[in-house]
Amino acid sequence: MSTEAETAPKAETKPFQAEVSKLLDLMINSLYSNQEIFLRELISNASDACDKLRYAAITQPELLGDDPKLQVTIKIDKKKRTITVADNGIGMNHDDLVENLGTIARSGTAAFVDQMSGDSDKDVSLIGQFGVGFYSAFMVADKVTVTTAKAGENTAWRWRSEGAGEYTIEPAENAARGTAIELHLRRGMNEFLEPTRLRTIVKTYSDHIALPILLTGDDDAPETMNDASALWTRPKSDITKEQYTEFYHHAAHAFDEPWLTLHNKAEGRIEYTNLLFIPSSAPFDLFHPDRKHGIKLYVKRVFITDDCEGLVPRWLRFLRGVVDSEDLPLNISREMLQNNPVLARIKTAVCKRVLSELEKKSTKAAEEYAAFWQNFGAVLKEGIYEDTEYRDRLLGLMRAYSTHGDDLVSLKDYVGRMKDGQSEIFYMTGEDVAALRKSPQLEGFVSRGIEVLLLSDPVDDFWLQSVPEFEGKPFKSVTQGGIDLSKIEGGDEKKDKADAPPEEGVGELIQAFKLALEDAVKDVRVSDRLTDSAVCLVADEGALDMHLERLLKQHQQLSSTAQKILEINPANALISSLAQRAKASPSDPAIADAAHLLLDQARIIEGDPVTDPAAFARRMTDAMARGLTGG
Ligand code: ADP
Ligand code: MG
Repeated sequence: MSTEAETAPKAETKPFQAEVSKLLDLMINSLYSNQEIFLRELISNASDACDKLRYAAITQPELLGDDPKLQVTIKIDKKKRTITVADNGIGMNHDDLVENLGTIARSGTAAFVDQMSGDSDKDVSLIGQFGVGFYSAFMVADKVTVTTAKAGENTAWRWRSEGAGEYTIEPAENAARGTAIELHLRRGMNEFLEPTRLRTIVKTYSDHIALPILLTGDDDAPETMNDASALWTRPKSDITKEQYTEFYHHAAHAFDEPWLTLHNKAEGRIEYTNLLFIPSSAPFDLFHPDRKHGIKLYVKRVFITDDCEGLVPRWLRFLRGVVDSEDLPLNISREMLQNNPVLARIKTAVCKRVLSELEKKSTKAAEEYAAFWQNFGAVLKEGIYEDTEYRDRLLGLMRAYSTHGDDLVSLKDYVGRMKDGQSEIFYMTGEDVAALRKSPQLEGFVSRGIEVLLLSDPVDDFWLQSVPEFEGKPFKSVTQGGIDLSKIEGGDEKKDKADAPPEEGVGELIQAFKLALEDAVKDVRVSDRLTDSAVCLVADEGALDMHLERLLKQHQQLSSTAQKILEINPANALISSLAQRAKASPSDPAIADAAHLLLDQARIIEGDPVTDPAAFARRMTDAMARGLTGG
């Protein structure tokens, strides 16, 4: 007897992962509004569980057993003060429970919890906007019991928690396939025992769910509360904006408003329906390497996968929603989807549709388009070098800041504003636009009214390497190679000076600088780029652009960097007085010091390290001392 008792599985108690505890604590102690969303979250999970089972049953029909009609049932018990959300979907086994209801699996959610500030007002409004999944049950319940049995397995399990730090798992008596989540309501939550209240919540948040959602009370017959047809199969004219938004929230696990909703039915050689969304805010993990795209693939209303590589290119990975194909076989496995010709056609069609929608927006609603561009422009730019097929259209969609005002400009606008005699599209890349605007290398362009694009996405340096031109105009970095602005209309301001005799001593100064700097620079020369600053650094014509070189170095893709060219500006007061000194006494040690100081200064402006900080400090101190003592 006693041995048997010992071998029988016992209840285990486990702590929640720290992030879960933090989230639960906040939900229990601070969240007093929007509590009804718990139902949306539980129904959403139940519906996902049924989708998973329906997919598994394509190859293993026996999983459905004698209970093939998948549905969600909500049962209220006023005496016990409980509400139970049950489904006959895929269910969970012991390990699933530990994995899913003890930790936060979704990377976005974990990042979100990390961001919580401890300022409960702020956090609470964040939670309202975000989904908090299963754990939202604790907003309304002081005790949650999950009884679940996984399809195809014989054991049932019971998970229980009061939300305070830990949960227990134990085997349960034979339960039906699927999951039942019983919430014991907190005090003050009686509204959730009222059928009318529940009907309203289901209509508001879950009407689009393609399964029947039933309500049963103690004695009444079950009543279906929702429309129970897949939203994308309904005619557009029957769908309200709110319904689209709720569907987006469910399908995308997102909680913003969709920026764009794209609902189409394609009929012809290939038949499919797409209900796709572009979010109005960028998700946390947009640039995470294993970020999946967010489109669910259905075949004739049966969910197949939300991880189908070939459905859209990576540069459209911000798309969310559903594609439902009529042509793919229902028993298609995820493996068979690779290189599937039907899928390839859908992909092309979806790409074209999305691009033409974006083109429309970009011309008809420039401001809205700018908001999209801020969120996803950097992703779209990946397509410029990955997908030559769409390159021209993507270049057309591209927007960038420039020295022409504060707004985003298009390449077309840029080309339209090019000066007579200007044959290249000038650009500069860097960390951020505000810093770029202050770059000395831009001075000469700005003073002559020649526009320069200011590009600050890391991807810019890469697409610029692979795209030779736009409308026949090559791209040209303003920090690379020689630039002759005198041929460009408006460049004449400088031309007068170029025709004038060279400033006194500039040649001597250049010689003295070269001597002092030796191998630290490749060359020293007079600049066409500068109007105010004394000096700047530029890359040699054939070398890598400076910002690209820095990026590659940061990512350990480059071990050494090329020597730069130091350009000097004779119109600058310091340079012209140094030039006079150089003419009088070329070997004056103050000139060598100035050469080093100016080079270090140029490096600092570029964000590059000063190679010898001690020497820099000594020279700086000397120079200041001379200035103060009038020496
Ligand atoms: P999400 O739905 O975003 O993954 P949740 O917190 O809502 O996050 O749910 C966590 C996980 O728990 C789900 O991904 C799923 O694996 C599992 N789960 C929750 N509810 C159910 C259910 N009713 N049936 C089966 N699995 C479930
Ligand atoms: Mg969920």
